[in-house]
Amino acid sequence: MAEPNSLDVAAARRESMMSHRADSGQVALVFPIHSPRALLAAFRMLPVEAWGPKNADASLGGTHLQAYVCSIAQRNLAFVLGDRLRPGDIDLIVAPHACDSLQGLASLLLDLTPPRVPVFPLYQPRGTRESDINFYAAELMALSERLADLVGWRPSDDELLAAVREDEEADRLLKYLSQAREHLGVSLRELYALLRSREYLSAARFGELARRRLSAAGLDPDATFERAPAGSSGGYRVPLILSGIVPEPDLLFDHLESGGAWVAADDLACCGRRLYPPGQSERPFRRMAERLINGPPDPTRGSPIAARAEHLLALARETGAKGVVFYTVKFCEPELFDIPSLTSRLSEAGLASLVIEVDIGQPLSHQSETRIEAFLEMLP
Ligand code: SF4
Repeated sequence: MAEPNSLDVAAARRESMMSHRADSGQVALVFPIHSPRALLAAFRMLPVEAWGPKNADASLGGTHLQAYVCSIAQRNLAFVLGDRLRPGDIDLIVAPHACDSLQGLASLLLDLTPPRVPVFPLYQPRGTRESDINFYAAELMALSERLADLVGWRPSDDELLAAVREDEEADRLLKYLSQAREHLGVSLRELYALLRSREYLSAARFGELARRRLSAAGLDPDATFERAPAGSSGGYRVPLILSGIVPEPDLLFDHLESGGAWVAADDLACCGRRLYPPGQSERPFRRMAERLINGPPDPTRGSPIAARAEHLLALARETGAKGVVFYTVKFCEPELFDIPSLTSRLSEAGLASLVIEVDIGQPLSHQSETRIEAFLEMLP
């Protein structure tokens, strides 16, 4: 298969889908942010995520959605309705209700502009209480019943648990790669092509790839990664935390690196906010729910701003990061509601921050480039 760090991500994604189809599996297109990967895998479905595909005709989304809906929702709609998605590419769509934009998109697809394949919404809890675990476990069970109706069979509890454990192992390796990034000998572009391959590779194939990459870097994939003390990795680059939704376009990485910066950790919706810990329960649906509920703070899950600030400050202490770049999508309410209080708390704690708003699918603006350069220059 095309290795994701070859940077031809579109080819790697298509190869993953075709290879899964060749094994008689189905393909599920999954909208952001939190995908029920293990449940889909137990049904032999490959979850392939859509974060506002670049090749979608954005104007098609605009014919159905208001101009103030974010570009990820606009492009996802355009992708589903347009001719980039060929008949037979996908078998179903799963639409987690991460935010009002995605909830509206799911309603649109269910009621007004149905695509060629079935659409399954999935509600997410907004807290971390016992009732939230029970709620999400029940949602996953309901989705499981609908998937069983679609395919005509259902996995046993043992098969579900096996899928959860495989997903946990893939996420352990994903976290390892993310934490050991300094040791991989790759550029930021290559690093994020590798981390984001979790969005379209099966857990097993991602696990194989991660193991290969860790071994090639002289790291033991089965060990626990021990991070060196902050600031001990040479200090010739300015370490930053990248927060926000998705790090696109890739030119962002080139610009950061040419300015002498390095993303030492991230709090991105597509990466760092999905480094879920293993679950505890032996009941598969509860275990899947525990994983999400105990994941890193995320505004779309209703995490308190104080918890988000503490998480970012802890990342900065661990990595020696000098500042946080909030790289947000225009009109993203969950992000934008938090940012004033969050940046103010970080500033009180001595951590500088910069807020950049972008439209997915658009080039990095000169204004954004200049603001990043100015931010890097003012960091200690
Ligand atoms: S960018 Fe924000 S508003 Fe848009 S889909 Fe993602 S979370 Fe929702």
